[in-house]
Amino acid sequence: MLEGRRAVITGGGTGIGLACAEDLAKQGVHTVLMGRNLERLQAAADRIPGAQAVQLDVTDDTSVRNAFSHAYQDGAVDILVNNAGIAAASAFHKTTMEHWREIQAVNVEGLVRCTQAVIDEMRKADYGRIINIASIAGIRGGAYMSPYVASKHAVVGLTKSLSLEYAKSPLTVNAVCPGYVETAIVENSVANIMEKTGRSRDEALAELTKNNPQGRLIQPEEVAETVTWLCSPRSASVCGQAITVAGGAI
Ligand code: NAP
Repeated sequence: MLEGRRAVITGGGTGIGLACAEDLAKQGVHTVLMGRNLERLQAAADRIPGAQAVQLDVTDDTSVRNAFSHAYQDGAVDILVNNAGIAAASAFHKTTMEHWREIQAVNVEGLVRCTQAVIDEMRKADYGRIINIASIAGIRGGAYMSPYVASKHAVVGLTKSLSLEYAKSPLTVNAVCPGYVETAIVENSVANIMEKTGRSRDEALAELTKNNPQGRLIQPEEVAETVTWLCSPRSASVCGQAITVAGGAI
């Protein structure tokens, strides 16, 4: 059902983005993996049939313009997975404006830039999917994570608004909201907890898995399969949703 479609996945060289690219490729989708680290992207693209690697920094207007015009050279972009994101913990009273802006620049403004790069074509096409990788932090609060939580709430808000704005076109806009997923972001959080609290690796990991009623980390492939389902023509009436993949945490 998705054979021959083309998808751009930001942050497609690692973690959830890479799993999305692999899962979409299994459905015959041509994937364009975008991110800053071209070498890592190219190595990932080499392992995925029909995949291409394009360098992109979502915080930079020129980079976004160049990356998407490169992507459009080979045809339409039918699917955009806005996955690029960063996370860092900080106590609110110690959070600098620089740190605040750094998180919003990638997680919110970067997503806006990439969406604007495709929206005009997509809203006129007979099929289109924008899937934003938000987080359960886009639905509920989290201590020591206020810049990240605010950024992901913005992503969910944007998703709902764009979904209404383009409801009369075949384009759908949805968010997927994972709990803790076994990727580099979680690995960094574990290291941070160990450093700040002196806990062991197992204790630090348990601090994260206790947020999931199933008591485990989610696998990137589980998030990817939800993304692929949202791309299906059969999910055309699912729009403006923030779908949790979080073991019942919400
Ligand atoms: P990850 O492996 O660190 O992936 C983040 C990706 O974003 C990387 O591929 C990185 O690629 C890219 N990226 C970062 N800054 C960028 C920039 N300025 N321009 C372009 N690309 C940029 O971690 P992940 O867990 O898979 O994260 C993917 C998404 O899932 C994020 O939006 C994250 O907030 C969300 N999420 C993760 C979890 C979790 O527990 N892991 C839970 C909920 C939501 P380059 O370094 O090559 O640029």
